[in-house]
Amino acid sequence: MSAPVDPRYPQTRDALEAWRASTRENYYLADPLLDRALRRCVDAAALERARPGLVEFGRVCAEELDTPIRETNRDEHLPTLRRFDDFGRRIDTVDFHPAYLDIGRRVYATPVIQGYAAPGQERVQLAYAYLLAHHGEGGHLCPLACTSGLVKILQARADEALKARLLPGLLHADRVAPEHLHGAQFLTEIQGGSDVGANALRARREGETWRLDGEKWFCSVIDADLYLVTARPEGAPEGTAGLGAFVVPRVRPDGALNGVHVRRLKYKLGTRSMASAETDFIDAFAWAVGPVEGGFKAVVDIVLNTSRVYNAVAATGMMRRAELEATAYAQHRTAFGRPIAAFADVRQTLAGLRSRRERAFAGTWALIALQDRLTLGVASPAERDVFRLVVNMNKYATSRAATDQAREAIEVLGGNGAIEEFSVLPRLLRDCIVVEAWEGTHNVLCAQVLRDLHKLRLHAPFLDHLGRWAKAGLGVSEETVEALSNDVRALLTADADTQTLGMRPLVDRMMAAWQEGALAEILAG
Ligand SMILES: Cc1cc2nc3c(=O)[nH]c(=O)nc-3n(C[C@H](O)[C@H](O)[C@H](O)COP(=O)(O)OP(=O)(O)OC[C@H]3O[C@@H](n4cnc5c(N)ncnc54)[C@H](O)[C@@H]3O)c2cc1C
Repeated sequence: MSAPVDPRYPQTRDALEAWRASTRENYYLADPLLDRALRRCVDAAALERARPGLVEFGRVCAEELDTPIRETNRDEHLPTLRRFDDFGRRIDTVDFHPAYLDIGRRVYATPVIQGYAAPGQERVQLAYAYLLAHHGEGGHLCPLACTSGLVKILQARADEALKARLLPGLLHADRVAPEHLHGAQFLTEIQGGSDVGANALRARREGETWRLDGEKWFCSVIDADLYLVTARPEGAPEGTAGLGAFVVPRVRPDGALNGVHVRRLKYKLGTRSMASAETDFIDAFAWAVGPVEGGFKAVVDIVLNTSRVYNAVAATGMMRRAELEATAYAQHRTAFGRPIAAFADVRQTLAGLRSRRERAFAGTWALIALQDRLTLGVASPAERDVFRLVVNMNKYATSRAATDQAREAIEVLGGNGAIEEFSVLPRLLRDCIVVEAWEGTHNVLCAQVLRDLHKLRLHAPFLDHLGRWAKAGLGVSEETVEALSNDVRALLTADADTQTLGMRPLVDRMMAAWQEGALAEILAG
């Protein structure tokens, strides 16, 4: 309802109120592409069972989460570190605004994490994450991604005793129940995030378990119960080959606080409602996740790839929200006597926002469908190779696109677009920039793609995949596939610097073709 008009200021706020009200439509019901994508890749009976939950969560996200999430991101409500209790005993605990815990309770009550009890259904689980990502919400999406990666690596590698000890708590639906557990993952050290092979954190065997000593520089979700940590066992070789994967509990099995000492919480650009710390490990108790040999490979294949998919889901959810806010604003805001949507150049920007979001969404959902096929053990070797290539290219492409999307949506709102109280967009922009750095920077991912093309010839199955779309008349043309094929071959024989510099523009074109094919496939479905 509009506030009464003060006769001294006759300009009403009706248009702004109407704009905001129009952005509150159920995020699931307002997104036919999401429903179509799910219809394509989830069988009809399973989708019928899943839909009521998705519709309800779409409503909650659209109608109820805006204000609490905004509150948890305000300077005065950010998490704070409490190192000692009243009597000077070390507790290293993080205090959150009550709304943060309440949002977490709602999120963990959905199947987003519980769904991992029956692996291979991430298409539905990640639809929940996508709806939540309309708020940015790294505050909860990052813990979800970390917990998912931890569940999966335990399911794949841990011995039965460790699984029995940790998985029930990780899959528990009640965020505030004492038995509930959630995860974090710490790879990055001060001397290098991309260069994980330079990790110096040491692991020392003590009977059946391990002790860790050293530091980690970026530790998001430091409030978690379980930290997945990369560390180098004594005597292990240099580089990534010598790294093992360990789970460090916040509280040791004997009930004592573990040797994980939080130095400080970082004051961040984005994902601010979540606690990211700098941390010392001092004789910290740990379990190895499976054999320490091959630990890092498992972290990449399972944990990082899971996070890269989550990262893309977060990027596409933020893109959708940016598009929704800007499109509705352009219909309600007038300038020079017309709604700004009547200006051709504003309409062009809006069309660009929609098209960028649809392509990023479709490309990501095609990847998620592949991931489920891999998990279920029904993917072909060629599909496995396509996943390996696209998971890196897609993380790069969606995270870059999301920042462009947030910036262009802000432009549609003009000066109001820069104001934190006015809309979600400034926070989305800040979260998008963090999402660009997470889980591999652009250069590092493109360098990995280049190595995979050389070593594993992954372009062959990828181009075949595109070729099948082209033959079926789905989005991408046969000429595009042929041009990509020629250009990949040419790049791989160029000198080293030309390859490095040429890889990113080529990845852009490969991803454009992937997204066109994936979108056409959903629309044809
Ligand atoms: C808010 C936030 C939370 C985070 N939380 C976590 C966490 O919980 N756990 C965790 O492990 N990490 C976390 N990170 C760290 C993040 O994963 C790293 O920042 C990221 O991997 C990049 O590493 P770096 O910062 O050390 O950058 P660097 O590796 O130092 O890179 C700096 C620049 O150099 C470029 N570069 C590096 N190597 C190459 C190369 N070979 N070729 C070309 N260019 C190169 C990079 O692209 C980048 O532009 C977090 C980061 C942020 C911002």
